[in-house]
Amino acid sequence: TSTYPDLIKGVRGTSNKNHIPEHIVKGILRAKHNIYVNKDGTTRYDMSELPITHFKPKEIGTPIGKLKDLGYTHDIHNNKLVSSDQILELLPQDVILPASSESPDEPADEVLIRLCAFIDELLFKVYGQEPFYSLTTKEDLIGHLIIGLAPHISAGTVGRIIGFSNVQACFAHPLWHAALRRDCDGDECCFILLMDALLNFSRQYLPDKIGSRTMDSPLVLTALLKPTEVDDMVHGLDVVWKYPLEFYHAALEYKKPWDIPLEQLKSRLNTPLQYEGMGFTHDTDNFNKGVVCSSYKLLPSMQEKLEGQMILAEQIHAVDETDVARLVIEKHFLKDIKGNLRKFSQQEFRCVACNKKFRRPPLVGKCILCGGKIIFTISEGSIVKYLGPSLSLANKYNVSDYLKQTLLLLQCRIEGYFGKEKEKQVGLGAWFG
Ligand SMILES: [Zn+2]
Repeated sequence: TSTYPDLIKGVRGTSNKNHIPEHIVKGILRAKHNIYVNKDGTTRYDMSELPITHFKPKEIGTPIGKLKDLGYTHDIHNNKLVSSDQILELLPQDVILPASSESPDEPADEVLIRLCAFIDELLFKVYGQEPFYSLTTKEDLIGHLIIGLAPHISAGTVGRIIGFSNVQACFAHPLWHAALRRDCDGDECCFILLMDALLNFSRQYLPDKIGSRTMDSPLVLTALLKPTEVDDMVHGLDVVWKYPLEFYHAALEYKKPWDIPLEQLKSRLNTPLQYEGMGFTHDTDNFNKGVVCSSYKLLPSMQEKLEGQMILAEQIHAVDETDVARLVIEKHFLKDIKGNLRKFSQQEFRCVACNKKFRRPPLVGKCILCGGKIIFTISEGSIVKYLGPSLSLANKYNVSDYLKQTLLLLQCRIEGYFGKEKEKQVGLGAWFG
């Protein structure tokens, strides 16, 4: 029996400027360890971002002895750490990674175990070095470093793994999320194992296109997080242990937040307290007992996700559902439909048999190399897929006449391209009946 899989997949070609491939053994070892690779040569794990400033050892499954080694010697009341129920303040570059049993995503610890085994074998067999990780249990992952990276950003931030939770999200300090240049809550980010990035990342692999060489890649690395240098939205973070009565009175009177003086992170910048001593107002017993996986991951189709969002919008008094419908149509659907319609008119054509691409379809109506069938590269389906839901949302939630007419004009343009549909597809136009 072989230790390598029978089939090892590769890519059809390289899209970087000098067509530099990576060392072929890397691909073989990745296949052996069942590791996926990104276009820049690294392996990534995607997750939603959640901010947190405090945790209990029992919430992250890390033994007390291990936490002490990492610097968590005392709890928030300055008592020595002895029990897994004590509350600890999170250090700003420590992260708690997702390992949820209720999510369709593979737990991060399982991916990391395989990744570390891959890195170790790679170090030994390709680089002639000693293995670096040599893990025997999942617990051995604690204390190792990762790079956090947000979409469309070329600066990564180093983080240290201190545990895993049953919540399918990356729990990290608000400062760390801000360092990734995101708004802290609910956005998506990814991590790359630090040694993986150091060994396998190369700018040379990135496609030679504008954008591809600067976005979504760890071109710059922040090793030490400085609160003065991160996105300043986080400087407005409240750091008090409780809100005064005046705060609630002011809320009743709909006063502006800045009318009530509350201590915020910005007043602590450039002092030791910029990193520690932050408060919170309400405790929970165990954060794994709440929602552990976003419905957005669990709902299978676009239609169900959208319906879920609209049901919430209808139920929450503070939310104007007509405005939500308008935003979904304007920010997502219209852009998508118009973008794909534009691409359709500028698209290439492709031979199904030999994959040859054509700027224009050959006049003979078949591939001039092999005689194969010529097809579109942008399908009609990708253009019309959001038209039905848009029209349906617009009518049910009664958006402005202007937006409704914009959609009707777009529908006319699409029918001008493809003709009117004789038979209505199931569900189309009747999403929100
Ligand atoms: Zn062909």
